[in-house]
Amino acid sequence: MEKNLNFIDHDYIYSVIEKAKQATHTDIELILDKAENHSGLSHEEVAVLFEIKDNTQKERLYSIAHKLKEDIYGNRIVVFAPLYVSDYCVNNCVYCGYKRDNEFPRKKLTREAIQNEVRLLEKMGHKRIALEAGEDPVNCGIDYILDAIDAVYSTKFENGAIRRINVNIAATTVENYKKLKDADIGTYILFQETYHKPTYEAMHPKSLKGNYEYHLNAFSRAMEAGIDDVGAGVLFGLSDYKFEVIALMLHNEYLEKTKGVGFHTISVPRMKKAEGMSLEQFPNLIDDDDFRKIIATIRLAVPFTGIILSTRESAELRREVIKYGVSQISAGSSADVGGYSEREEGKTANQFQLADHRTPLEILKELLDEDYVPSYCTACYRMGRTGDRFMELAKSGNIQNVCGPNALMTLMEYALDYGDKEIIEKVEKVISREIPKIKREDIKTLTLKNIELIKQGKRDLYI
Ligand code: SAM
Repeated sequence: MEKNLNFIDHDYIYSVIEKAKQATHTDIELILDKAENHSGLSHEEVAVLFEIKDNTQKERLYSIAHKLKEDIYGNRIVVFAPLYVSDYCVNNCVYCGYKRDNEFPRKKLTREAIQNEVRLLEKMGHKRIALEAGEDPVNCGIDYILDAIDAVYSTKFENGAIRRINVNIAATTVENYKKLKDADIGTYILFQETYHKPTYEAMHPKSLKGNYEYHLNAFSRAMEAGIDDVGAGVLFGLSDYKFEVIALMLHNEYLEKTKGVGFHTISVPRMKKAEGMSLEQFPNLIDDDDFRKIIATIRLAVPFTGIILSTRESAELRREVIKYGVSQISAGSSADVGGYSEREEGKTANQFQLADHRTPLEILKELLDEDYVPSYCTACYRMGRTGDRFMELAKSGNIQNVCGPNALMTLMEYALDYGDKEIIEKVEKVISREIPKIKREDIKTLTLKNIELIKQGKRDLYI
């Protein structure tokens, strides 16, 4: 059993922030030079980049972030949607609409209701979801979550199928993580919310979630249980963002040291208005400019880690910050239990306010117009490319030989199944542009052959 360790030394982080303030223009340039070579950055270097003040250096930060993303991920953007299954919650998180003090009729989806939601997600073209739930060991225990996962994987509608379920549920035991692993989940996602312990405790009063060390060590337990891919995040707005990002980096370094691999993804949720709270309660909210800086700096620091951006942000801001290193976005999301079915009936309710309400088809068309390749690929985890095996492939650049072709194939599959004439034409153009970029001749030929097979209705041809 792992001990509950606190490897986030607060005084040390304050000293790193203070020391960074002495960095010169040249110190910053040298760190940017290092980042440009895909070398990643230490948490001390991250702290220095947060001291960038002049606009030319800021622009350089953004352009390196953009270049790193292109070099490592190409122009692919993975698309997914959340699926909320239960809003029962025993916690009282100050910032959250699901807090137990908020009185509203709580819901948890029956197997049939989950299948309805999944059919609607599949109708939008989704292949990858993030399963979300409040924390309630009685009303929403691990057996309920396992049933929900089974309901999702077994629901097939026309050509639709959810092929990867990432799971975002409360920190739990090694035993329960083993059950999630056996249920074939993709990434286990958990946001630390804040690494700042006094803030963490103030934000989770008299709550199961209030044990900082237990929450902090959740990924170590998940990895001990055999889950290879873990997805981190902090809720930006709770505490000083410099402290949070440095702590995130320390957490990543800690997992690399103790488990051989760090975060698979990092999410960057930003605080939004929710029921039972007001944004004025939070003195550390971050503006758009800091948000851009955070995303770009994370991209430089951990070039091989996915960055996930949700529909909490507006279409306009998403359009911009995708350039600074985002690799996955949600689309067409509802952040409410049964939200996809309710939307069909014209109702809306959410755990917190969303800002990008476009359909996946609208988002995909725009991504294609901006020369991105939206991807519904889920092959990595099904082919065993997880954890350190994924990271090795990513670091050697060989990931391009699989992700690029798979993105094109899943995109064609999407366009034929859920698109219109306009998107099919756009996808054909992207395919002609992208195929010549595939370096290995055998893979180029296989990709073209598989795209032809997809047009004939064949599925699951990924490499
Ligand atoms: N109950 C699980 C847990 O405790 O980890 C899952 C969490 S919840 C379904 C998903 C995430 O929504 C939370 O981790 C939190 O970061 C985020 N969230 C909660 N309230 C929010 C708000 N007002 N604005 C933005 N994000 C919020």
